[in-house]
Amino acid sequence: MAEFDFEAVVVGAGAVGLACGYALARRDLSVAVLEKEAVIGQGVSSRNSEVIHGGLYYPTGSLKARLCVRGRRALYAFCDAHKVNYDRCGKLVVATSPDDVERLEAILEQARTNDVEGMAQLTAAQAIAMEPELACYGALHSPQSGVLDSHGYMLALEGEIQAHGGAVVTSTPFEGATPLDGGGFSIRAGGEEPATLTCRYLVTAAGLFAQDAAALIEGFPKAEIPKAFYGKGIYFRLMGKAPFSRLIYPPPIHGALGTHYRRDLGGQAVFGPNLFWVDELDYSVDPDARAAFTDYIRKFWPAVPEEHLSPDYAGIRPKLHGPDDPQPDWRIDDATAHGLPGLVAMFGIESPGLTSSLALGEEIAARLEV
Ligand SMILES: Cc1cc2nc3c(=O)[nH]c(=O)nc-3n(C[C@H](O)[C@H](O)[C@H](O)COP(=O)(O)OP(=O)(O)OC[C@H]3O[C@@H](n4cnc5c(N)ncnc54)[C@H](O)[C@@H]3O)c2cc1C
Repeated sequence: MAEFDFEAVVVGAGAVGLACGYALARRDLSVAVLEKEAVIGQGVSSRNSEVIHGGLYYPTGSLKARLCVRGRRALYAFCDAHKVNYDRCGKLVVATSPDDVERLEAILEQARTNDVEGMAQLTAAQAIAMEPELACYGALHSPQSGVLDSHGYMLALEGEIQAHGGAVVTSTPFEGATPLDGGGFSIRAGGEEPATLTCRYLVTAAGLFAQDAAALIEGFPKAEIPKAFYGKGIYFRLMGKAPFSRLIYPPPIHGALGTHYRRDLGGQAVFGPNLFWVDELDYSVDPDARAAFTDYIRKFWPAVPEEHLSPDYAGIRPKLHGPDDPQPDWRIDDATAHGLPGLVAMFGIESPGLTSSLALGEEIAARLEV
């Protein structure tokens, strides 16, 4: 049997790549996670809402539906075991117009189909009794939703990989792979000390660069690489006391869950992300969006003080669809899709990728049959 430098190489040390590394290391495989940046978790995993999603919305049978619920359960257990900070604060999905009430009923039905625990339908009065500053026409309560310290989580994953004898190597871009006769891959890694190494299994979890990573793999059929789209969203932070203790979400917008409220783990109120389409990875935040944000927030928080909303950060979703297309599922391509045994390539791992990361890791291990 061929000898490999590592049994598994994972490209990308975001939440998903690290969770894949952890899943493989737990199976006693020697693992190297390659990260092009100097620090782990600087990609999509550092520019999101840090919400632990219940798993309410995703279509029956989709990867998102299955892996979000499973991943969320595993994530709370992982956080407990590794002392990662979180707040299982619960979430209210709120009807901000009479028309939304019917949409809530559909979301409740989907949530129950998805096996989300503890969902309850509330009248407006019941919801307002829970969150007195709220305005709504009715709501759903999802007690399993929460907020996470995503960087603490990624550090704990890195620690687990290292404790199992694996390596997380930063400042080391993946620059190409060639399938080896008899199985496995030869990997070219760049950085200050470029190196070639071999592995039996290769997993790409490159976030916004997923398509570029796949294109660097010899023999990966170019026609199978999906087109990349960028769905940007920005956030505003409230200067002042947070008005709600639970997450507050109006029903989803087309292509995303849309602007919502969270109280972060520091106790501050954050609103976002909206969704617009960009061609470049540009993380600027337009302060002029404040008025539109205020109008949106006012629908569920009439007392929002516009002058206390301050532009905060932006995130970019690695999307597989454009503005007018239906939102597709994630893509997890194994050998049945691209014909290269030992390779799993992920594309379009947008929300709820953070919540689902541990389940994505288990899914990858299952696809590799390890
Ligand atoms: C605005 C926004 C809000 C979101 N909110 C939530 C939420 O509340 N809850 C939730 O569950 N999900 C949320 N998500 C989704 C979630 O953040 C992502 O699904 C998840 O972080 C993706 O992780 P990843 O590891 O796939 O990608 P990333 O974190 O981007 O990691 C990919 C890594 O690969 C590295 N890389 C790329 N190319 C190479 C290469 N050639 N060589 C080496 N390294 C490379 C990158 O530097 C990066 O570190 C949100 C996303 C966005 C954009």
